[in-house]
Amino acid sequence: MRCPGERSMHDKPVTSVVIAGGGTAGWMAAATLSRSFAPEALKITLVESAEIGTVGVGEATIPPILPLNAQLGIDEDELVRRTQGTYKLGIEFVDWGARGSRYFHPFGSYGADLGGVAFHHHWLRTREGALDDYSLNARAALSGRFDRPAEDPRSVLSKLSYALHFDATLYAALLRERSLAQGVEAIEGKIAEVVLDPASGHVDHLSLADGRVLRGDLYIDCTGFRGLLIEQALQTGYEDWSHWLPMNRALAVPTAPNGPPVPFTRSTADAAGWRWRIPLQHRVGNGHVYSSAFTDEAAATEALVAGLDGAMLADPRTLSFTTGRRRKAWHKNVVALGLAGGFVEPLESTSIHLIQRGVVTLMSLFPAAGFVQAEIDCYNRLMQTEMEEVRDFVILHYKQTLRDDTPFWRQVQAMPVPDSLAERMAIFAHSGRVLLGPGELFRETSWVAVLLGQGIMPRGHDPLADAIPEKDLRLTLQRMRAVIGRGVEALPTHADFLGRLSVGRHPTT
Ligand SMILES: Cc1cc2nc3c(=O)[nH]c(=O)nc-3n(C[C@H](O)[C@H](O)[C@H](O)COP(=O)(O)OP(=O)(O)OC[C@H]3O[C@@H](n4cnc5c(N)ncnc54)[C@H](O)[C@@H]3O)c2cc1C
Repeated sequence: MRCPGERSMHDKPVTSVVIAGGGTAGWMAAATLSRSFAPEALKITLVESAEIGTVGVGEATIPPILPLNAQLGIDEDELVRRTQGTYKLGIEFVDWGARGSRYFHPFGSYGADLGGVAFHHHWLRTREGALDDYSLNARAALSGRFDRPAEDPRSVLSKLSYALHFDATLYAALLRERSLAQGVEAIEGKIAEVVLDPASGHVDHLSLADGRVLRGDLYIDCTGFRGLLIEQALQTGYEDWSHWLPMNRALAVPTAPNGPPVPFTRSTADAAGWRWRIPLQHRVGNGHVYSSAFTDEAAATEALVAGLDGAMLADPRTLSFTTGRRRKAWHKNVVALGLAGGFVEPLESTSIHLIQRGVVTLMSLFPAAGFVQAEIDCYNRLMQTEMEEVRDFVILHYKQTLRDDTPFWRQVQAMPVPDSLAERMAIFAHSGRVLLGPGELFRETSWVAVLLGQGIMPRGHDPLADAIPEKDLRLTLQRMRAVIGRGVEALPTHADFLGRLSVGRHPTT
């Protein structure tokens, strides 16, 4: 029995963290925590198993990766060089809205808002030119050009927005190096048992296969899909989202480059899922994400191989997953990050971002003075919201389509979707309005790109857009297109930009 005033093992200050798993999630957590806490304040130990290995995919990112790397003190040029990285201006979607259709989901924004009204309402009013012609990112990407945004805010080129493609294994290695330099202790070993404290149900220690014992105040479960601590030991539960996102398999295969890398990811819809193409400097990452309820591995492999545009460098590798989220990302003294916390398929390259959000949110609620349930609940609520927002955006790509050529597309087209998404689609279809919460990851440009790209043409537009005389508006839109066109022509090719990086010269901005 505890004496009055004596602290239990779970409300004492947290001075040690054990990170279980050394994939992207484990090393992102280690690098971020060790950058923020001095080794005397927080002892960080990471255990990883070469025998088990990592998932080894996760090569496309979204723009918030850039401030994270900067915060970790990682020079972007060095990162791109060391991870065989390339730049990403958005995603090209092929055959999604309908067979034979293409659209681009750009980072950045379309045109410029006029009279306080979002740009796309002016475009909807006139339908003057193609929407992509108002996106610097889309135009640059599709003409194979790239530069970092210009520093001069008066230049149209200051509006460029980008993310990265990189080799996931090389990125984890870079984060590992940083973490070790910042005092993280790395242990090679296989966790054989997660031992719970019978009184509290908290994790007491991890037993490794060779008999070593690892103890910490806080455990971060980064063991991948298996969720060794959060699920196998704590049995936290998983909310399955397969009825909305039935993809549950992926085949991944690298190919030799067949030309200079393009500065965008390509996603091509297939009979029972979709195929990705992610260009790196030394190879192209390809994959086929599909639903095993609608096709088998042999047919999925055949479709993947038929769509390749370069020589295969290895045999296709199969991965299995269930889309959904852990019911509590933080349970007792365990926080689950990365695949251990849940997974939304990689259509919009959001998993690494969600790891980042998990780490940043953990930092802001770090239980330095001990565990408080209110903070744990708050963390879980915030992470749930972020995952659900990503889920809705991804579901949109399936629900809103004219494709009905296979049983898979007929099913996803007919499925009921979360109310939050159904409402958003209905509002856009009616008035072109995009309703957004304040902290949502995907902003107006993303929703407009995908809603229109997948085939919703709104019946109306914001009436405030009509305040500008139509002749003036058309002239303004023409000028915008011309400015963007000239801006794109002034950009170096992506290959030239990368070439300058690889010889160590700083590209001009
Ligand atoms: C098909 C596919 C494509 C993807 N594409 C993208 C993308 O383009 N963009 C994106 O952002 N994300 C993508 N992701 C997600 C991304 O791959 C992951 O979010 C990221 O790699 C993090 O993985 P992780 O660290 O959680 O797990 P893992 O990489 O699986 O790492 C798990 C770690 O735990 C260790 N481990 C497990 N069990 C034990 C044990 N018993 N003892 C000791 N160690 C153990 C393993 O050795 C490993 O080090 C994709 C995922 C899939 C499946």
